[in-house]
Amino acid sequence: MEKYDLIIIGGGPAGLTAGIYAGRQGMKSMILEMMTGAGSGYMVPSMENYPGFDMISGKDLLKKMRDQAEKHVPMRNMEEVKKIVKNGSASISITTSKGEYNAKAIIISTGSRHRRLKVPGEIDFIGRGVCYCATCDGPLYQDKNVIVVGGGNAAVQEAIYLESLGCHVTIIHRRDQLRAEKYLQEKLKEKKIPVIWNSVVEEIKGDMMVKTVLLYNRKTDEKTDLSVDGIFIAVGEEPLSKVAQDTGVEVDKAGYIVTDKYQRTNISEIYAAGDITGGIKQWVVACAEGAVASLSAFEDVME
Ligand code: NAP
Repeated sequence: MEKYDLIIIGGGPAGLTAGIYAGRQGMKSMILEMMTGAGSGYMVPSMENYPGFDMISGKDLLKKMRDQAEKHVPMRNMEEVKKIVKNGSASISITTSKGEYNAKAIIISTGSRHRRLKVPGEIDFIGRGVCYCATCDGPLYQDKNVIVVGGGNAAVQEAIYLESLGCHVTIIHRRDQLRAEKYLQEKLKEKKIPVIWNSVVEEIKGDMMVKTVLLYNRKTDEKTDLSVDGIFIAVGEEPLSKVAQDTGVEVDKAGYIVTDKYQRTNISEIYAAGDITGGIKQWVVACAEGAVASLSAFEDVME
C-alpha cells in the first residue's frame, strides 16, 4: 500500500493551495481528485475580487493554480474517495475507486455541488436546455432566450456573462430583492438585464429540448408559461461531505464540516478546507484555509 504523510482530497482552490504548501514543506503528499479538477470554481465565468487579477475566469485561475501545484505535489484525477478509516494515531486508510492508500494526515477539500430546483422536468432536460454552468454551456445559447434562476452572486454573475455572449437573459428570483453583492447588482442594472421578481419555476416543459417554464408569482398567485431555450439554475450549493460524515467527522445542520481556526476537525489528523467548511465561500478564503490546513497537518504529524 502506498504511504503518504498527507493526502488531500479534492483539487479545487483549497486543495491545490494545501498541496503547494505541503510539497514545499517536504511532506510526501498527493491530491486525489474525483473528476479532473473542474469543480464548482471552474464554473465561475469571471472574477474581479481575486487579488492580483483585475478580472479572471474560474477556469483560467484554476489552470494557473494547477500548473503551480503540479510543481510541488502529484495529482491523481478521476479517483473518487469511497472510504476513510482512522486506524490510530497518524494512520488513516483511504480507499478510492482505484486503490488503497495510507496517510498520516488528510485534508478534506471536496467543496460543494449545485443545488437542484427539484421541479418536474429538471432532471429530464439536463443537457437539453437545463444547465448549471454558464461558462460550460453558455456559448450554445447565443441569440437565444435564457433564464437564470436565483438571486445570489452566482446567478447574477452568470446572467452578466450570458448577456455578454449575446444571450437574451432574464433572471427569475423568488423574492423582491437580490442577495448578490451591490457591485454585481449595479452591473446588472447597467446591462439592463430584466428580473422577474417574486417568482419561482414550478415546471420545465418541452419535447426534445426545453420549450417553456411554468412560473408562479408568489405575490399575485398568477401562473404563466414563459418561452425559453435554456434555463441556468444557480440556486446555491450543497456540501460534498458524505464520505467525511461516514468517517465520523462532525458536520453542521447543513452538512458542512465543522473545524477550528486551524482547520482541524473533531478527528485528529483530519483537516478540512474550502467550501466544504461552509461559511464565506470565496476563492481567497478557500486558498487561505488550504494553507492553514496544510500548516496544521505539518505541525501535528511532522514536527
Ligand atoms: P447563494 O448565495 O446561496 O444564493 C442562492 C440564491 O438562490 C438565493 O438568491 C436564493 O434565494 C435562491 N434560491 C435558493 N433556493 C432556491 C429555490 N429552490 N428556488 C429558487 N431560488 C432559490 O448561492 P450562490 O449564488 O450559488 O453562491 C454560493 C456561495 O458562493 C455564496 O457564499 C456566494 O457569496 C459565493 N460566491 C461568491 C462570488 C463572488 O464573490 N463574486 C461568486 C459566486 C458565488 P433567496 O435570496 O431568497 O435566499
